[in-house]
Amino acid sequence: MTFDTLGLNPALLRAVHDLGWPKPTDIQRDAIPAARDGKDLLACAMTGSGKTAGFLLPTLHRLLQSPKRATRALVLAPTRELAAQVHADLQNLARHTNLKGAAIFGGVGMGPQEAAFRNKTDVIIATPGRLLDHLSQPGRYVDFSALEVLVLDEADRMLDMGFLPDIKRVLAQLPAKRQTLFFSATMPKPIVELSRVMLQNPARINVERVALPATGIEQAVWPVKEELKADLFIALLRQDVIGNVICFTRTKHRSNRLADVLTRAGIPNAKIHGNRSQNQRTEALADFKSGKVRVLVATDIVARGIDVEALEHVVNFDVPHMPEDYIHRVGRTARAEATGEAFTLVSQEEENDLRAIEKAIGRKLNRRTLPGFDYAHRPVERFEVPIAERIAAIRARKAEDRARAKAKLERREQHQRREGARGASSTGGSAPAGQAGSGRAADAPRGPRGRGPRRGPGQRPR
Ligand code: AMP
Repeated sequence: MTFDTLGLNPALLRAVHDLGWPKPTDIQRDAIPAARDGKDLLACAMTGSGKTAGFLLPTLHRLLQSPKRATRALVLAPTRELAAQVHADLQNLARHTNLKGAAIFGGVGMGPQEAAFRNKTDVIIATPGRLLDHLSQPGRYVDFSALEVLVLDEADRMLDMGFLPDIKRVLAQLPAKRQTLFFSATMPKPIVELSRVMLQNPARINVERVALPATGIEQAVWPVKEELKADLFIALLRQDVIGNVICFTRTKHRSNRLADVLTRAGIPNAKIHGNRSQNQRTEALADFKSGKVRVLVATDIVARGIDVEALEHVVNFDVPHMPEDYIHRVGRTARAEATGEAFTLVSQEEENDLRAIEKAIGRKLNRRTLPGFDYAHRPVERFEVPIAERIAAIRARKAEDRARAKAKLERREQHQRREGARGASSTGGSAPAGQAGSGRAADAPRGPRGRGPRRGPGQRPR
């Protein structure tokens, strides 16, 4: 089957042709005709399946049929990165049309986004939180009264991230009569329930199939002791077993540590996680995409939504706890028809999580070892400082600070007592130490700040 048989507007077919896509992916083949005919969709689709064009092409096709100046399509996406990616795909697919899109997400200024709403941008691609911010602004410049299409992208992810109440609040502000395209990688019960409320007689695409990583991905695990993971990863890079790679770690701390270790080993890298600003994230991704850095260290936040052409490798530095996360991370490589490798470093303690993943994908993963790597050596330094130790170190540091402050205060008080005693004796008083200044005569002149007697000309400050 070719794109030409999908009944799409010629301007869109030209764009697809420009992109060099030879034929629709499975999800596109099933989703496009049903959505083009105006049906609601309930689609189970992974990143890498071509799902974005699966909902953008029929949406753009619809908007081209009756041009008008109004926001007529809204795509809700869980993360900034995914919203930006969908926007980029839209720009590619709509390049031979007058249709425009805008990405609306947090971490950047509201002003240009407000302008996008006021300009009645055809397609708004938004994360739910920032969209609600705009909806609650005075001036009420968000106008969805002409909305025709709503897309939920990665609905399960939005649910995981706690966006369900936000989504419901957004829904309350949209016209009830509209087409809804509902995409989710997995179909847990709350997602099925949400889809029931939102969809009318939807075409069901792929829903019965268990979501699996795209074909073409070579998956393998590398058993290694926890403390040798960084050394093995560096050895794999140095021996070019791994090319350009997104490497996922379990926590932000581990991302930071790994980035430090790589830098010390002379391996150019960038990192992207929840504690980094939007600018830092964008720059890291750009450096990785341009080839300036070879390794992008990331936490799960970017597992969905990053689309890097010709990504050769994904490495799970840690085994993901949830099989779905594994499938999503691995989906970063081998997009559509391409091929790639997904490696997972697994320690003894992570074997249980690995077994759950193998069960979910229905097969045992290849186990590999790196010839010449000393699997028994002692690492020069510990990779991760356990959280309890980090907290203990912070507490110890604070206790030290407090002790130092207390000693300083005592020294100052002692000094003041001595000064006071000296002042008292010079004015002829006999106040005991500790009652500095109490022997001052009621009419004695005050010092410059009104404290204690003024110094005589011969008395130097101590
Ligand atoms: P996603 O939409 O996130 O699943 O990503 C799919 C990736 O495959 C993106 O890089 C698209 O540019 C690319 N892609 C989408 N559809 C096709 C197609 N029919 N043939 C080849 N590549 C495609």
